[in-house]
Amino acid sequence: MGQALYREWRPATFAQVVGQAHAVTALRNAVRQGRVSHAYLFTGPRGTGKTSLAKILARAVNCLDPRDGEPCGACVNCVEIQRGAHLDVTELDAASNRGIEQMRDLREKIRYAPTSAARKVYIVDEVHALTADAANAILKTLEEPPPHALFLLCTTDPDRLPETVLSRCQRFALRRLKPEEMVERLERIAADIGMVPEPGVVAAIAVRAEGGLRDAIGLLEQLWTFAGDRPTMAQLVELQGGVRQDEVDRLFEILEAGDGRGCVRWLDDVCERGAEPREVARDLARAARARMRAAVERTGRVDPGWLAVLERLQSVTADSRGAGDPRLALELCLYRCAEAISPAQAAPAPPAGEPRAAAAGEPERAGGWNELLARVRARDRRVWALLQGARGRAEDRVVEIVFAFPAHREEAGRPEFMAVMRQAVQDVWGEGWTIRLGVAPGSAKEGATRR
Ligand SMILES: [Zn+2]
Repeated sequence: MGQALYREWRPATFAQVVGQAHAVTALRNAVRQGRVSHAYLFTGPRGTGKTSLAKILARAVNCLDPRDGEPCGACVNCVEIQRGAHLDVTELDAASNRGIEQMRDLREKIRYAPTSAARKVYIVDEVHALTADAANAILKTLEEPPPHALFLLCTTDPDRLPETVLSRCQRFALRRLKPEEMVERLERIAADIGMVPEPGVVAAIAVRAEGGLRDAIGLLEQLWTFAGDRPTMAQLVELQGGVRQDEVDRLFEILEAGDGRGCVRWLDDVCERGAEPREVARDLARAARARMRAAVERTGRVDPGWLAVLERLQSVTADSRGAGDPRLALELCLYRCAEAISPAQAAPAPPAGEPRAAAAGEPERAGGWNELLARVRARDRRVWALLQGARGRAEDRVVEIVFAFPAHREEAGRPEFMAVMRQAVQDVWGEGWTIRLGVAPGSAKEGATRR
């Protein structure tokens, strides 16, 4: 992600920090009143301003000409700290494994008075990643800090810090920014670089950054590189690999109709034009959330179908960070969403035991197929969802299940899924049946593109 704009627009004073009013006010007052303590811990998600605040504080306490708690930005201390060249200010990033040596002799060096600054500052980014020895060195110093020492610790994961460190720091929890808080800054940056985005683009960038201003500025820069001075919404979607609002609307109509196969066709279409399943899942989760919130505000109640959709999209978004096939995961998720919204259409419940005639237009569906689906559904929804896109035939004591896609056939072949199908077949047709899994002809191409 682009970093040049972010570095250029990084806040240099407390007043320039976007959001985080509680931390900004408290720190600025502490500087103004000369009551800055020995150790601060900044926690919060990535890109919310933890190290920016630490650097502003490092300058503010050492500035030769501070104004109302703000660093001047012009004195030798401000300039040197800004450049990362001041002898009394040590910055290290524990996550990249640097700074082990700095930590080793920290305990000796911290005792010496600073050379030209008022406070000797250690800024440690991702402090939870420090080695035990290094964390111990900090801890020992925190127990009896020399009066000139100032520790500014930053972490995205405070739960991994020892309680002894937490208890010795004054803590500021930075929060994710709301999109509207980021929009003004993004618009100013865009104006500064001569960019005139299509209406809605800046707001969409703010939403996609999920609360991190650094990511938002990075995305703006990427879009600038990718699309030039007049970026459009379509270009932003293309860059991110997500889906457009009209595509989201179309899918939501398909879901409301409980059309599982329509979902697969929709996913094929958007992936065909280059969308990334992971980004698609994220966009859908955001859109479903916005839709649900709007409905709650309008009606005062939560629609259980859409709540289930949101939960499913949320969990597939979380899962997609791990291994596995994100497209298959999203596909199954969409089946389940269709089922959640419109269970009546998605799951016909035939009278038990009565062999049904094949549905019109589906002559290959043998009598009993719908009942088989109902039995499978009762046992395992995941297997049932897989079978939604398949066609079945039962004759001569062989049940043949033909999937539209090789990946579905592969998934259905898992032993635990086969066991569910075997039991359901036995429930419907009795013992002695064999199950064969196949893939519809002409699906090889789709199968190849889904990996
Ligand atoms: Zn200064």
